[in-house]
Parts: sequence; C-alpha cells; structure tokens
Amino acid sequence: MFIIKHLVEPLELKEYRILNSRMILNPKEKLHYLNLEKGNEGEKNFNSLLCNLPGNFLVVNDILLEKNNTFFQIDTLLFFQNNIYLCDVKNYEGDYFIKEQRWYSVATGKEIQSPLTQVSRCISLFRRYLQDLDINFPVKEFLIFINPEFTLYEAPRHQSIVHPTQVNRFMNQLKSIPSKLNDHHFKLAEQIVKDHVKVNPYKKLPYFEFKQLKKGVTCKSYCSFMKNVGDKEMICKVCGYTEGLESAIMRSVGDLRILFPKQKIVQEWCNLQISKKAVRRILMKYLTVRHHGRYSYYVFPPYKNN
Ligand SMILES: [Zn+2]
Repeated sequence: MFIIKHLVEPLELKEYRILNSRMILNPKEKLHYLNLEKGNEGEKNFNSLLCNLPGNFLVVNDILLEKNNTFFQIDTLLFFQNNIYLCDVKNYEGDYFIKEQRWYSVATGKEIQSPLTQVSRCISLFRRYLQDLDINFPVKEFLIFINPEFTLYEAPRHQSIVHPTQVNRFMNQLKSIPSKLNDHHFKLAEQIVKDHVKVNPYKKLPYFEFKQLKKGVTCKSYCSFMKNVGDKEMICKVCGYTEGLESAIMRSVGDLRILFPKQKIVQEWCNLQISKKAVRRILMKYLTVRHHGRYSYYVFPPYKNN
C-alpha cells in the first residue's frame, strides 16, 4: 500500500477548534464544528485500518475537485490494477432509518441528507472528471459506516453500503484483490492530487475579531486555558496536561497564525503571567524578527496546509 496523499486535518476544523476555545459559538456553529470533529475522527479511524493492510494499492485522501464550477469532495480513493474505489466514510452514531429513500434520525425524527444520494452525485462527477482526462478506469463507490454505534433500519441491500459489522470484511477483501500497479496508476493518482482544490469554497467560519477572542495559551486538546507552573512549564486547568513553556507558547503562536495569518501581536494573544522580555526571548529563538521603523515584528516560517 502506498499513500500518495496523507490524511490531514482540514484547516476549517483547526480554525473552529481554536475559535471554540476562545469564543462562544452559536448552536448552529457549534453543531457544524462538532460534525467536523466527528467526520475527521471517522476518516482517521478508516485510515488507520487501511494503514495496517498489506496489498498493492494506492491511497489518496481528502480530495476536493471541481468540474464546471461544481465542487465535489472525496474522502478516500483506492487505486487497484483494474479499478478505483471511491470511499465515502461516515462516522454517524445512533439509529437511523430509511423511508421511501429518505434518511431519518430515530432520535430526532428529522430527515438528514441521504448519504447514498451524496455518494452517487460524487461518483458521477468523478467519472466525468476521468472522462475529461481520457481515462477509462471503472470506479466503484463505497459508503462506509465506520462507527460501531451506528444502526440503519430498513437498509436497502445496496452493494455500496458497508455497515459497521462489515468493515472488517471489507478490509479483508481489499487485502486479497490481486493488483499489479504500473506508471499509469501513479500518474493518475498524482494528477488528482495536483487538481485538488486547496481552498474550500464551502468553508463558513463564524464572524470573529482579534479583540473579541479570549486571550491566553490553550491546552493541546483545547479543553481549557493553561497556567504557569514555575517559569518553565504550563498546566491545563481542566485536564492537567503539562507542557514546557516554550512549546506551549509556540503552539499558541501557531494557532494565532491559523486564524490571523497577518497578525503580529503575539504577546497579547498568549497573555502570559511572565515578563514580556521573557516571552520575547522565546519568540526570537523560533521566529525571525523584522524591524520596521520604530516597530519590530515577528515573521513566521512558511505555513503549509494540505
Ligand atoms: Zn486540557
């Protein structure tokens, strides 16, 4: 198994995580954020199963493609000798049912967007994308429900649905597909990665300003803010996670940069109970200082996101 494109946490999720720890999200935003977390967790779980598989195939994760101004997102593509598997991973939890091809949550009784419709839209756009490249690979779609706490009532016996109880079997099947890869497979996978749209046009962040966000250094898991222990360490007020002062500050600087790529006010963001001079010393160790007239500011190293 060769990973051509690794799974990375989407920028939108990182942004939401930081915002959630520093401001109050409205219920809609909060739900969206939690869905992002959940979706990401599902993809991670799926990927860790894939990573343990022997077998000769290529893996391309998290692809956003565009066809005639229509965007479509693919969780995972698997390239075998004779076909491509398009995997849509859902981390749904709880009970759902299907009635007249519509999907509902048992708990809320509310209709949800049919994942089958989503995946079939995705695969038809992907097929068109391949056609335009003059590529004739058969593509099969799979809708994978990765969460063991998911149950679907009245499920159609649909070839493309992989229920939680079938995930292991699905993985075993992948393992046994005989597959000889050649240059064409690698070239196509690389082409797809090249065509991946980096800026998600559907991203919707809540409105926020620097001054309105709570300042301080948050814990690595974003459960709360950290406080100083002595002058070399910080501890999370909730989970007790401890971290070296320098590493905690630089992590926080990384967060600042995700939300405000141009913001240079680092001291205020970290809001530390230590002298400004001490903070400056740490920043100077990791960042480049530029002087502009009377002012000086820090320059971040280049930042990469999928
Ligand atoms: Zn914590």
